[in-house]
Amino acid sequence: MRRVTVLGATGSIGQNTLDLIARAPGAYRVVALTGGRNVAQLAADARRLQAEIAVIADETRLDDLRQALDGSGVAAAAGRAAVIEAASRPADWVMSAIVGAAGLAPGLAALEQGATLALANKESMVCAGPLMLATARRHGGTLLPVDSEHSAVFQALVGEDIATVERIVITASGGAFRDWPLEQLAEATPEQAATHPNWDMGQRITIDSASMFNKALELIETKEFFGVDPARIEAVVHPESLIHALVGFCDGALMAHVGPHDMRHAIGYALHHPDRRPLPVARLDLAALGQLTFRPACEVRWPALRLAREVMQTGGLAGAVFNAAKETALDAFIARRIRFTEMTGVVEAVLTRLSAHPGHNVDDITLDKVVEADHLARVTAQEIVQSR
Ligand code: NDP
Repeated sequence: MRRVTVLGATGSIGQNTLDLIARAPGAYRVVALTGGRNVAQLAADARRLQAEIAVIADETRLDDLRQALDGSGVAAAAGRAAVIEAASRPADWVMSAIVGAAGLAPGLAALEQGATLALANKESMVCAGPLMLATARRHGGTLLPVDSEHSAVFQALVGEDIATVERIVITASGGAFRDWPLEQLAEATPEQAATHPNWDMGQRITIDSASMFNKALELIETKEFFGVDPARIEAVVHPESLIHALVGFCDGALMAHVGPHDMRHAIGYALHHPDRRPLPVARLDLAALGQLTFRPACEVRWPALRLAREVMQTGGLAGAVFNAAKETALDAFIARRIRFTEMTGVVEAVLTRLSAHPGHNVDDITLDKVVEADHLARVTAQEIVQSR
């Protein structure tokens, strides 16, 4: 039986992962499930799947979790350290689906115990790509992408020589505001931004789709994951979101990965890798679809894409600073302290202020350095938000 752990089990990716695991009774032994605050969902899933341990990151909810698990035989724990401990329990396959930079340390802990880490948490690669890859190499772990675009690129590269890759094109739906007049964007509310035209995802990533901060993170993730020159990585708007990414080769061939809007494809590919197994996702009827369309990813409408290019060029800890500043700006937008269109300005100001900070461009990225850069960027972003 394969031992599996799901970090961020209560979220959108986590729930899709549990759906696949629950469909194969007897194939998996669930080691640990973790959640952030949602005790009821975590306890229900831990009971149903007979996990060894359920961990809630919010320490104030430990008593609630204990009560909800009473008599189930599932152990309960709480707090950040307990999440990391859960990730480091021996498991063959670990899903990293905590949202934000909080997912980095647990993901590293899973790699350190030699697990295959299915990485939905793109922030880990953005903040510390070289550290993630080095940790996997050192401990014999495997890193598999779960973001649909990166899973698509990964699949298109099977059997190919990365040196023959001319370009990688990742697609973007354009999010909630792709057709809004530019002058209306300043009035956009968090509720409007959290409505995705195609995908059903968590609130934060959905708002990041509207601002394209999500695509900006994915451009950086592409560079880190596949080690490709940033000049060879591009984004294109594809409103149907059915082609997830394309890889262009030196002979002019462009390999596209096409699939429905269902994260269980990318999750299932990572779960069964290197095999392909049947998955409960819809099959596309191409004739019924009729057409697939593309538009340029305009950097005036989505300035986050321009910032991503700067971050990729700078390297070092710029990704960690970018992500932390973005998370703080997003919190401020959700709390209605800044406008939708102000998020990029906050992130750019943080990148500019911290670019002269010693260590910003270091190549030897450690967890401590990432944590420090992340903290500094959040404090700086808070100051900038308050001064507005
Ligand atoms: P959700 O917001 O739906 O879920 C996030 C998960 O992380 C929940 O389990 C949440 O717990 C938990 N969590 C939140 N904060 C903390 C914390 N500080 N410590 C520990 N756990 C925490 O997010 P998604 O599932 O949408 O996304 C997860 C990751 O996958 C993100 O990095 C996202 O960018 C990436 N991703 C998501 C896709 C999607 O389709 N949703 C597609 C591709 C990538 P709780 O809910 O209990 O508070």
